[in-house]
Amino acid sequence: MPKGKIYRILGLLIDINEKNFNWYDACSICNNKVYYNVGQVICYKCHKNDVQIIQGVALTITIKDSSGSMRLILFNKQIEYLLRSTISEVKEWIEPVNEGSKLKEKCQLSLYNAYVFTKFLQVRILLYYPTKSIL
Ligand SMILES: [Zn+2]
Repeated sequence: MPKGKIYRILGLLIDINEKNFNWYDACSICNNKVYYNVGQVICYKCHKNDVQIIQGVALTITIKDSSGSMRLILFNKQIEYLLRSTISEVKEWIEPVNEGSKLKEKCQLSLYNAYVFTKFLQVRILLYYPTKSIL
C-alpha cells in the first residue's frame, strides 16, 4: 500500500487475539501513549507535560477478504465498539478470577461478522462500522 491514502476494506473478522490485550497509560486528550520523565507525564503528540492519564488499550485482530488476510490493531473506542462494552468492563472480564469466559462470549459474538475498516498510512484505523453478518 502506498502512503498517504485512506483505504476502506470490507473484511470478515476471523480472529481476536483476546489473550493479548496491551494495556498502557494514555493521554486523556489524544489517547496516545504517555511517557514518564522525572516525575512528569509527557505526551509527545500533544507536546504537553503533566497531561491527565486515562486507560489505553490495544488489541490485535485479523480480518480477511477475497484478496487475503490482514492483522490490524484496534484501540479503545474501536474495541468498545467491537465488543459492545466499555473498556472497564473488558478489564474486569480479563481478571484471572473471571477466567475470561465473558470476554470469550463477547468475542464470539463479533467473530465472523463483516466490518468496513478505514486505514490511513497503514498505521491507524480511523473508523469502522458494521455492515452485515455474512453468516
Ligand atoms: Zn496527547
